[in-house]
Amino acid sequence: MATPISLVTGAGRGIGRGIAIELARLGHNIVINYAGNSAAADECLELVRAAGGDGITIKADVSSSQDRARLVAKTVEKYGRIDLLVNNAGVAPNVRADILEAGEESFDRLISINLKGPYFLTQLVAKQMISQTWQEFPPQIVTVSSVSVYTASTNRGDYCIAKAGLGMLTALFAARLAEHGINVYEIRPGVIATDMTGGVKEKYDALIEAGAWPIKRWGQPSDVGRAIAAIARGDFPFSTGEVFNVDGGFHLRTL
Ligand code: NAP
Repeated sequence: MATPISLVTGAGRGIGRGIAIELARLGHNIVINYAGNSAAADECLELVRAAGGDGITIKADVSSSQDRARLVAKTVEKYGRIDLLVNNAGVAPNVRADILEAGEESFDRLISINLKGPYFLTQLVAKQMISQTWQEFPPQIVTVSSVSVYTASTNRGDYCIAKAGLGMLTALFAARLAEHGINVYEIRPGVIATDMTGGVKEKYDALIEAGAWPIKRWGQPSDVGRAIAAIARGDFPFSTGEVFNVDGGFHLRTL
């Protein structure tokens, strides 16, 4: 069996690292993309190797069109194809500001990294996938969005709007790429323990204790990684545009 090639953006730390490790357990070669923390990316590559996979690290800013083009070109130069794209890279606003005060600079940054980047990277990778001969499984695309797709947090409207856009990204590319045999999925994580949530740990500890979601614990990067590994195994061949909630049941309405 050929070794599947996965490109995971923002894979050095946090959720992306959890995804890379779970895909490595399936024997994938992983392209570990990162923005600037090369030590974390190198550490991730070691963990990927220890888990049974292999890979390379590539520094690239997903919000830059030049960097996206280089990321895809280097991946194809090394491995000849891409079987799985995971759009995971994303940032929180530097400052959580009320939507009556929040500025355009933060809005532009969040839209650029969290929405424009994955949209045009998906476009680029989709064209590469269309040009490829299939291996055992058809190529697939997974985007990591958030419960912020539908949850209004009035102190980070920029983040919520960018994530809401990823919901439509999934629908659009699922509809467009089905004729090419490429299925497209969205993972909506709830609160996951990473650097991104490190600064608001006490707030979420209290929410968990109060029962804000039914499964009373922090989500872990491996929770997201395992969901994506299930997709990567090819077990959802007649599903596309599907949304998987990995949120401890946060999306449920209860009475
Ligand atoms: P994190 O711990 O802050 O890690 C972010 C990763 O993204 C890092 O590897 C970082 O690279 C990379 N990155 C940041 N900006 C980038 C850019 N412009 N180009 C390429 N890579 C970039 O964040 P996380 O919590 O793992 O979040 C990962 C994704 O899950 C994000 O899209 C986030 O919105 C989403 N999410 C997170 C949670 C949560 O509770 N943590 C919940 C729902 C959704 P460096 O290491 O080089 O800085």
